[in-house]
Amino acid sequence: MSSDSNHAIESFVSRFFACRGAVVEKRGTGLDVLAPGDLAKQIGIPEYCHLTVESESPEDYSVNYGSPLLETITQVAGKQIPLTIVQLGFHYLKSQGFDRLIQEGFTFHGAIGRVDNTAEIRTDYLLLTCRFLAQSDEQKEGLIPLAFNLETGAPVVNLEEMLDAAEKKFEPGGPCSPLEAEKIESIVQWVNRQAPNWVDAQIQSFRDSMNRRFKRDVTNLEAYYTELKQEMTENLKRSGLSKELIKDRQEKIALIPEEMAKKKDDLFKKYSIKVNIRLSGVMLIRTPAVKLYCQATIGRRKKPFTLFYNPINKSLDPLVCDGCGQPATSIHFCDRLHLLCPGCAPACPVCAGGSK
Ligand SMILES: [Zn+2]
Ligand SMILES: [Zn+2]
Repeated sequence: MSSDSNHAIESFVSRFFACRGAVVEKRGTGLDVLAPGDLAKQIGIPEYCHLTVESESPEDYSVNYGSPLLETITQVAGKQIPLTIVQLGFHYLKSQGFDRLIQEGFTFHGAIGRVDNTAEIRTDYLLLTCRFLAQSDEQKEGLIPLAFNLETGAPVVNLEEMLDAAEKKFEPGGPCSPLEAEKIESIVQWVNRQAPNWVDAQIQSFRDSMNRRFKRDVTNLEAYYTELKQEMTENLKRSGLSKELIKDRQEKIALIPEEMAKKKDDLFKKYSIKVNIRLSGVMLIRTPAVKLYCQATIGRRKKPFTLFYNPINKSLDPLVCDGCGQPATSIHFCDRLHLLCPGCAPACPVCAGGSK
C-alpha cells in the first residue's frame, strides 16, 4: 500500500473521530484515540485505543483498506451529510473597475447605479451538492451544485468549477452545523426557489426525449383507433348481421373515444417526470471578497444597495429581488424604492405599488 493512501486513510479517520468529539493524536504509524463512550460503542472499539494504519495483524485495531473497522467508520460517516469548511486565499483582489462591471452585468430601469465605496471583507458562500433522480419511462440521475452567497442569498453560477483554481485550506468540518437555525431556514427557502430551475436545465434533453416519445406514441395510438373504428364501421355494412350483433358492435364503436382517452392518459402518466432531490454534501466557503456600497439615483431620490465582488468566479453576485427572492440583474424600483426583478416590476409584491 502506498504511503499516500495510508496518509489519506489516516487523515480521514482522524477527521472522523475529531469531528465527533474524540481526542486524536498521531503516534508512530497510527493514531491514539480517546473517544466518547457512545461513539466507541457504535464503532466497536474501546474508549481508548491505538488505531494502526499499516499493521495487518488481527489483534490490532487496524484501519487498512478492506478492514472491518474502516468499513464501520465509513458507514457511520456516510449516514451524515458531510460538511466541509474551506478557507480561500487570493494573492490579488480586484480594487477598481467596479463601475464598468456593474454596467456590463446590470441594467437599471429609470435609475442610475454607481459605486460610492468599496471595502475588502470576508464573506461566506455555501455550495450544496444535490443528487437528483428524474424518473419517467426511463430515469436519469446526476449531481447539481447549488451555490449561494450566504449573506444575501443570491444564487451564484460557476462557483464549483472556478473553485478548482483557488488556493484552498480545509478546516475540519463536523456534524455540528456552524449555521444558525434561522439561516438554515432561509437556505431551505433559497434551495426550494432555485433547485427546480437548475434541475430543469439539467434534464432538458431528457424531458425533450420523453416528450418526443409521448407524442410519437400518441400519434400511433390515434392512428390505431382511427383504423379500428373505420374497420368496425365497414364491417357493419356487411350483409347477414343480426340486429343484436349490429347493436353490440355500434356500442363498441361508441366506446372507442373513451378507451382512447384512457390509453392517452396512461401514456401521459408513463412519460411524466418525477424528480427527487437529495442533499449529499455541504461546503462552506470562507473567502475574501469586495463589498461595494452602491447608490441608485431614481429621479431625485437615492436608494443605497450593496453588491459583492466574488473573486472565485471573478464577477459580481446578482442582486436579489425584494419581491420574489429570485436573482436579478435587470433592476426596477417601485415607488417605495423596493428593488425588483422584471417579473415583479409591474406590481411590487412588497408594497403592492407600481414600478417607476
Ligand atoms: Zn421578483
Ligand atoms: Zn414596493
